[in-house]
Amino acid sequence: MDFTLSEEQRQLQEKAYRFAVEKMAPFSRQYDREEKFSREIVKMACEAGLVGCFIPKEYGGPGYGFLEVALATEQISRIDLGLMMAAMGAATFGSENIVLFGTEEQKKKYLPRLVKGELLSAGAYTEPDSGTDVVSGRTTAIKQGDEYVVNGSKIFITNGTVCDYMITFCTTSPDAENKYRRHSLILIESDRKGIARQKIAGKMGIRTTDTAEISFKDVHVPCENLIGQEGMGFYHVMHFFDVTRTMVAGQGVGLSQGALDRTIKYVQQKNFRGRPLATYQRVQFLLAEMATKIEMIRNITYKAAWKVDQGQIDPSLNAMAKYISGETAVWVCDKAVRLHGEYGYQDDCDIQKCYRDAKILEIYEGAKEAEKLTISRRLF
Ligand SMILES: Cc1cc2nc3c(=O)[nH]c(=O)nc-3n(C[C@H](O)[C@H](O)[C@H](O)COP(=O)(O)OP(=O)(O)OC[C@H]3O[C@@H](n4cnc5c(N)ncnc54)[C@H](O)[C@@H]3O)c2cc1C
Repeated sequence: MDFTLSEEQRQLQEKAYRFAVEKMAPFSRQYDREEKFSREIVKMACEAGLVGCFIPKEYGGPGYGFLEVALATEQISRIDLGLMMAAMGAATFGSENIVLFGTEEQKKKYLPRLVKGELLSAGAYTEPDSGTDVVSGRTTAIKQGDEYVVNGSKIFITNGTVCDYMITFCTTSPDAENKYRRHSLILIESDRKGIARQKIAGKMGIRTTDTAEISFKDVHVPCENLIGQEGMGFYHVMHFFDVTRTMVAGQGVGLSQGALDRTIKYVQQKNFRGRPLATYQRVQFLLAEMATKIEMIRNITYKAAWKVDQGQIDPSLNAMAKYISGETAVWVCDKAVRLHGEYGYQDDCDIQKCYRDAKILEIYEGAKEAEKLTISRRLF
């Protein structure tokens, strides 16, 4: 077993971190306060080769594996999870389905333009009454001739008001006896007639991402926009999550590491009773616990992502990585705020932002209970 990263992987980590420090950090606080999504940052990330890392070379991407995606994600999330999501994570979100299940024509049409930043995508699965229980999604796409007519609504969709298209989880055979064979994935361009998009403002964290509620009223979409097989949407989405959860795990590793980095710096500068906080053993022990937990989630995340790249996808391991990474990020950020004392509670201290940002890691791409369901099912 060799845990050494290759030279190329180390360079990718360095490039991603440098990008975040130089191009994101200067805007971090302002954009967070203004809840501003910046397409400019997406463009810069595209120019740096950080968007669509998983897109194969023949479709204009760098053709990295999910381990590399996790490595880059980690480094950017150390600086700003929200901007990482806005610029990199969400820019192509949902389009993993095109890579996994799309036709050659769909891959050629969409993937190269995502890498260049000419298109932004979204993955629209969640509905007001179906989040964890994806299969109860009720947005319908009923076939009429060579078109689907879509009706329904989606909620909490990242990139919802800014995306050019969304890969949408729809019910195509509402009467199918097997409820797992009722759905399909359909690519819906955002400018189609009958679509209304409403930004959801006031999020607790990752405020630089665009989140929206979307409604579809008699939206006509050509059947050629079907991604993958009709009736297999549920299985496609489950497979999609089995792959992409390693990215979210990488976000947790990066955010936790960023919180630890900031805390180590702070306790060396801050004096308590005439000497730096860092000289107190209780403080050192807490930092040691934080570092240990981060190393644990880093290892499980890299292993899960590596297995995806080896074609040995392990849904249970990926669920473990995502669940423990999110929970650890929340724990680490809590301790980081504690060590920053009253300063950690202030708006001009980045650690409070880490704390707010961390919570989403226990919610999106499957709440942690959804991951525990996957893990426990495997146990029996
Ligand atoms: C900022 C943000 C961005 C998002 N981006 C996207 C996006 O891009 N695309 C998209 O499709 N969705 C997105 N989501 C939605 C997100 O994936 C859902 O919120 C998540 O899947 C949980 O679904 P829910 O909110 O409907 O909660 P529910 O499913 O209603 O769950 C509520 C609570 O009950 C628990 N629970 C549910 N079922 C069980 C069970 N069987 N056993 C035990 N506990 C259970 C859950 O874990 C949770 O704690 C986003 C959400 C947020 C907040």
